[in-house]
Amino acid sequence: MTTIPRGYTPSQDLLKQRVILVTGAGDGIGRGVAKGFAAHGATVILLGKTIKKLESVYDEILEAGGPLPGIYPMDLMGAKYKDYEDLVAALDKEYGRLDGLLHNAGILGERAPIEHHEVHIWQQVLQINLSAPFALTKACLELLYKSADASVTFTSSGVGRKPRAYWGAYAVSKAGIEALSAILADETEHRGTLRFNSINPGPVRTAMRHQAFPAEDRDKLLTPEQILPAYLYLFGSDSKGITGQQFEAQ
Ligand code: NDP
Repeated sequence: MTTIPRGYTPSQDLLKQRVILVTGAGDGIGRGVAKGFAAHGATVILLGKTIKKLESVYDEILEAGGPLPGIYPMDLMGAKYKDYEDLVAALDKEYGRLDGLLHNAGILGERAPIEHHEVHIWQQVLQINLSAPFALTKACLELLYKSADASVTFTSSGVGRKPRAYWGAYAVSKAGIEALSAILADETEHRGTLRFNSINPGPVRTAMRHQAFPAEDRDKLLTPEQILPAYLYLFGSDSKGITGQQFEAQ
């Protein structure tokens, strides 16, 4: 496991001139990180399912004086490969490159023993948490290579690194994400301009965390804004050359 350098302080214009695609940007961690990226100068492409949520992030970025973001509504559950190709074509036309890709969108599914795990929920979780990041990354590779310094980060979880009872498809999807990240890092290391890492946000105050642990005291959890430094580190030039690592945001 890797953590960001102790006392890391990102510069205010760390992400200036960078174009970064964030999935699941309308809520929770993705929302906080997308706004934080924009506050550090990035042009953020907000991808998510619920247009209203994306629009409110868009408005907040502009109100805060950030660079003009993009909105790309997409339901990762039903997305076909052609949909990813269309997204890449639109990004290529508008920006000509991609400097960052944060795979953040995810669903919990259900917490149940494998014996009682619903098959259709298993498939949904694997689709959104693992198959969609695979297809989106594959489609984006050429565009990422057009950047002199591109960063791709996959969102993992504690149970993706150490599977535990009752975490079912969610833990399997996150273990798969770790494998995908490691494979891509290995396959691309020789190129030197593109890095792949995974990040475990740790417990964060969001709707998903509440779904998993409804009884806990939410006030004791960190907010998405409080784990922002790890994401800034991974998407700025301070982490250039670091690839194939498993980061902890907390
Ligand atoms: P939230 O449930 O708060 O947000 C999830 C985001 O994913 C939402 O923006 C949601 O969009 C989007 N999303 C879900 N389904 C789809 C879909 N079919 N198509 C497109 N977008 C979709 O979760 P968190 O912010 O808590 O989690 C973010 C990531 O961090 C996840 O990968 C999660 O597994 C991981 N994580 C979170 C932890 C925590 O404590 N919160 C701990 C460890 C890992 P919409 O709102 O429009 O549905």
